[in-house]
Amino acid sequence: MKKEEVLFSAEECEFRAELRDFLEREDAKGAEREIFEQDFYPRELYERLGKAGFLAPVLPAEFGGKEEEGGSKRGGSEGGGKLVYEAVLAEELGAACVPLAWIHSTSSYAYATILRYGSEEQKRRFLPAMKRGEKVGAVAITEPEAGSDVMRIQTRAELRARGGEFLLSGEKRNITNGSQADLLLVWAVTNPEVDPARGLSVFIVEPGEGGGPGEGGGEGFEVVEDFKLLGGFPGTVNSRLRFDELSVPRGNLLGEESGENAGARILFDELTVERVLYAAMLVGEARPVLELAADYSAEREQFGTQISRFEAVSFKIADAAAKLEAAKLMIFYTARLLDADAGFSAEKESAISKLLASEAFYEVAHSTLQILGSRGVSDEYPAEWAFRMARLSMIPAGTNEIMRFIVQREIYKERKERKRKTKT
Ligand SMILES: Cc1cc2nc3c(=O)[nH]c(=O)nc-3n(C[C@H](O)[C@H](O)[C@H](O)COP(=O)(O)OP(=O)(O)OC[C@H]3O[C@@H](n4cnc5c(N)ncnc54)[C@H](O)[C@@H]3O)c2cc1C
Repeated sequence: MKKEEVLFSAEECEFRAELRDFLEREDAKGAEREIFEQDFYPRELYERLGKAGFLAPVLPAEFGGKEEEGGSKRGGSEGGGKLVYEAVLAEELGAACVPLAWIHSTSSYAYATILRYGSEEQKRRFLPAMKRGEKVGAVAITEPEAGSDVMRIQTRAELRARGGEFLLSGEKRNITNGSQADLLLVWAVTNPEVDPARGLSVFIVEPGEGGGPGEGGGEGFEVVEDFKLLGGFPGTVNSRLRFDELSVPRGNLLGEESGENAGARILFDELTVERVLYAAMLVGEARPVLELAADYSAEREQFGTQISRFEAVSFKIADAAAKLEAAKLMIFYTARLLDADAGFSAEKESAISKLLASEAFYEVAHSTLQILGSRGVSDEYPAEWAFRMARLSMIPAGTNEIMRFIVQREIYKERKERKRKTKT
């Protein structure tokens, strides 16, 4: 028995091993280096990942996937996929090719949400192409006035009396994959008369041709700009988008009738899934950075010996590795809580996963930079880039302050519940 089989089933281990083989065969690491030098969006590699059947393992088999010779579909899809496979995928992509992992990130949040809340017709329409990697998804929540306070969303969707379509107007910012996505989940106010918790809905928006930056966008949709974050992250896209009376068919209201004004509930559910998958990607991104620190320190000699023999160096690696391992365990525990489908709330665990993973990644990157000395801050090694990526990772999917807010809120809720039970 292998150590990893204590935590993962044989099928899950097989999925990870096959995925790693595929990424090695495709030289995803080489592609990552090329992207850093030439800054291109690795859409073709993403499609190949889909064609090989690795994408969207959370989707049940009926939405497609490559049939193995005489075996099951990849991702344990028989009788319904599991989030744990999606977390394995996010982790391995993070380790192999960061820009590829970022394409997968919001695509996976989008297809997991359509799976959970879409009508049968919507699932049939959108999910197979997302599974094949032909369609990239984005999740558009954040607005200029609605950051951490998501309930301040002002994007408005008005139902037009004749024709029955919605007219969408407003602005979204910091949307990962925004300018490249074929499909955006957009949160908008459908009933301004009530509290936003009861007046938001989600729309599946399919931007038309010519939506790229500088191209002006399709009618009613504009990519205002792609942001350059912390000096730039080649191959990843973070966009500001504008909707101006964009016509969205009624059939694109997520969940159709049952989805009207259900946007807040869908949002908190989406964020719970998003945070655990995002955290999985981060522990993946951190893995090769920690390996770099170990390799470098085992080889670099100063004062007549390898620097790894100085505890000031090797204990940095020990501390960072301990935090990374803890984060990984939390992530897979959370994914299994969600997979159990037993009505557990995993909001606290998901927030802890994101908090631990981003802080562990930061410590890994910070220590690696220090261990590599002057080489760490130069572009000879990917350490400086990892450091910027790790610093950035504390903001998306809810800032780490908001993660702490959720964790303490849930702890006090649990305490109140304990007190109530002891009184009765
Ligand atoms: C790389 C990247 C990718 C992103 N991808 C997406 C995406 O795909 N889709 C999407 O919709 N959004 C995305 N975002 C947006 C992201 O979710 C928001 O940036 C984030 O939620 C914070 O909002 P804000 O930037 O407006 O900061 P603000 O909410 O204005 O916060 C500013 C500061 O105040 C603190 N703060 C705010 N409220 C509290 C509080 N109650 N208690 C303590 N501190 C508080 C924050 O922690 C932060 O430090 C992305 C952001 C980045 C950087």
